[in-house]
Amino acid sequence: MENNIKIFNTLTRKVEQFVPNEEGKVSMYTCGPTVYHFAHIGNLRSYIMEDVLEKALRYAGYDVKRVMNITDVGHLSSDADTGEDKMLSGAKREHKTVMEIAQFYTDAFFSDCEKLNIKRPDVVEPATNCIDEFIHMIEVLLEKGYAYIAGENVYFDTSKLTDYYVFSSQSEKELMVGVREDVSEDENKRNKSDFVLWFTKSKFDNQELKWESPWGLGYPGWHIECSCISMKHLGERMDIHCGGVDNIFPHHTNEIAQSEAYLGHKWCNYWFHVHHLNDKTGKMSKSKGDFLTVSLLEEKGYHPLVYRMFCLQSHYRKPLEFSYEVLDNMANAYGKLRRTAAKLNADTVLDENAFAEYKGKFLDAIAEDLNTSMALTMVYEVLKADISDKTKLELLKSFDEVLSLDLTAGELQDDDSGVDAELETYILAKIEERKAAKKAKDFARADAIRAELLEKGIVLEDTREGVKWKKA
Ligand code: AMP
Ligand code: ZN
Repeated sequence: MENNIKIFNTLTRKVEQFVPNEEGKVSMYTCGPTVYHFAHIGNLRSYIMEDVLEKALRYAGYDVKRVMNITDVGHLSSDADTGEDKMLSGAKREHKTVMEIAQFYTDAFFSDCEKLNIKRPDVVEPATNCIDEFIHMIEVLLEKGYAYIAGENVYFDTSKLTDYYVFSSQSEKELMVGVREDVSEDENKRNKSDFVLWFTKSKFDNQELKWESPWGLGYPGWHIECSCISMKHLGERMDIHCGGVDNIFPHHTNEIAQSEAYLGHKWCNYWFHVHHLNDKTGKMSKSKGDFLTVSLLEEKGYHPLVYRMFCLQSHYRKPLEFSYEVLDNMANAYGKLRRTAAKLNADTVLDENAFAEYKGKFLDAIAEDLNTSMALTMVYEVLKADISDKTKLELLKSFDEVLSLDLTAGELQDDDSGVDAELETYILAKIEERKAAKKAKDFARADAIRAELLEKGIVLEDTREGVKWKKA
C-alpha cells in the first residue's frame, strides 16, 4: 500500500512516485515559523497542508519522523540577508526581550496549531539551541573552500557550485519576483547570489543575541539553521522537506547549496511546497502588518476547523484566495457535516467490505498528489452511500486520521453559522414562506418575515443564486 503515494517534487518539477531512502520510514523536515509575530492564516495554510502530508504518509503505512525548527534568530527583514533581524524588530515593537518574544509567539503558534488539529512535529528545535552545530558546519564549509570571510562576516560562495539554482533554470532576477521586500546590495559579497552564514558585522549591530565564534562575537544567518537542525535529527539523507513557495528561493536553494557542499552528496530527495494564501491585495504576509489570525476568525464566530476545511477544499499547488463568502459557505457545510455525522446510529453492523472499498478510494485520492478536495468528496459519498451507519461512522473516523476535521465529535454546540439546528430549520421554513408570499405579491407579508427574522438576529440577502441568510 505504502508505495502508491505520488507527490509533486519541486526539484524535478514532476509528480513522482514517493520512494523513501529506507523502506517503510520517512524523514520529513518542515521550515518552522519566525516567531516575531502571530502566524497568519496564510502561514497556517502551509502548516495545515504539511500536516495533511504527514498524516497521509502515516495513513499509507509509513513510519514518519518529522522535525521542525523555530526561527528565533537570523531571519532579517529581507530574505536576501539585509535589514534588521525580524526578532529584534518584534522585540522593539513590544518593548520586550527577543527571548520573551520568541517564547510568547512560539506558544501562540502551537496553540493555533492545536486549534487547527495540526499535529506537533516529533522534534521541535529553536535555532538558538544549535549555535555550536552552526559554527561547526560553517567551519567545514570554510575548510572545503565553499565559504569566505569578508567585512567580518562569513559568506557562502555560490560560484563554487556547478548548479546553484537547483529548483529552476531561471535567473536570480526572475526568482526574486514575488519574494519579500526590496533588496539592497551587500558590497562584501563576491557574487550577487552569495549569502551570509555568520554575521559579526551588519548595518544593524544592535542585535540582542550574540555568540562567541571563531570569527568573533556574532550570530548566524537564517539558512544555516535548517541544514543543521535537520541533519542533527534526521541524518545526512532526508526524504522530504516542506515549506511555502516563497521558501523555494532563496531559503531552500541556499539550504541545498550549503548542505550538499558540507556533505559532499545529495541531501534531500523530495521538496514539497505549498502555494500562497492571498487576500484581495496579494500574498498575505506578516510584514504587511494587517493580517488575519485564527483568533480573529474565532472572534468573528468561525470554528477554527472551518478554516482547515477551507484549505482542504483547494489543492495545495494552487494559490488560494481568502474570502469571507467562501468561508461562510464552508462554515455551513462544516456544521452540516458534524450534524449529519452526529445522527448516525452506532448500534448498527459494520460492513467490512464496504469499509475497505471506501477506504481504498480515499487513499487513492490523497495518494494522487494529495488531492484533498477529492478526499473531502469521499466524505460526502460515504454519507450518501447505501451502507450501514456504523460503516459510515468508522469510515469518517478513518478519514479523519488525515483530514483531522473532528467529523465524529458530535454536533457543533455553537454551529458554523452561530445558530442551532432547530433555528436553522425555522429560518429555512421562513425563507420558503417569504418566497411564496412574494410570488403571491403579498409584499407586506414578505417584509414582515424579513423583520421577524431580523429580530432573531438573522439577516436575509436576495442574491442571484437565491436567498441567503447570515447572522446580523
Ligand atoms: P515565516 O514565519 O515567515 O518564516 O513563514 C512560515 C511559513 O509560512 C513558511 O513555510 C512560509 O513559506 C509560509 N508562508 C508565508 N506566507 C504565506 C502565505 N501567504 N500563504 C501560505 N504560506 C505562507
Ligand atoms: Zn528552513
